[in-house]
Amino acid sequence: MRLLIMGPPGVGKGTQAKGIAEHYGVPAISTGDIFRANVKNKTPLGLEVARIMEEGGYVPDEITDSIVNDRLAAPDAAGGWLLDGYPRTPGQVASLDAELARTGTAIDAVISLVADQAPLIERLLKRAQIEGRADDNAETIARRMEVYNEATDPLLATYRERGLLVEVDGIGGIEEVAARITAALDARLA
Ligand code: AMP
Repeated sequence: MRLLIMGPPGVGKGTQAKGIAEHYGVPAISTGDIFRANVKNKTPLGLEVARIMEEGGYVPDEITDSIVNDRLAAPDAAGGWLLDGYPRTPGQVASLDAELARTGTAIDAVISLVADQAPLIERLLKRAQIEGRADDNAETIARRMEVYNEATDPLLATYRERGLLVEVDGIGGIEEVAARITAALDARLA
């Protein structure tokens, strides 16, 4: 099972990714988590990307693509994966396509979590208070939404054209949304 999960900041991609990945027995691979771990541990990569993340921008494709390709080559990803937060740009889509072609594999489905952005901004502001993420403040949240709308939202059309998009209402309780996702995927992949 090879899946992508996409959606605007704050829609709950990370939470859903973990549950769905567990359900299908594949690793959830989050580029955001990988970058945050590097920032926390002050690795050379972390030092390079910290400022970009704090400002709500995107890490350059070359860096992101090579991190993902390395991670996809790990033994636990041989049987499948769920990518959370990647690809986010047309260049990353092309890089992932090339990597899939190189390894003779293909994406089974792209989960699109759909929600209006106003309630998501509120949700992110609340998360900022609870988790204290460096990129959760009003200014960065607005920037992340803007970058998402400009660079990433158009990618949904690409995957729709390929017949891979599975759209799911992202508003609701964690279990409720998780059930919607698995039902939609099971119906599609049956
Ligand atoms: P996330 O946890 O997925 O919201 O990611 C947090 C931050 O990490 C983003 O705002 C970006 O700065 C960076 N990031 C995560 N994934 C990517 C990606 N695929 N391309 C570029 N930057 C990314």
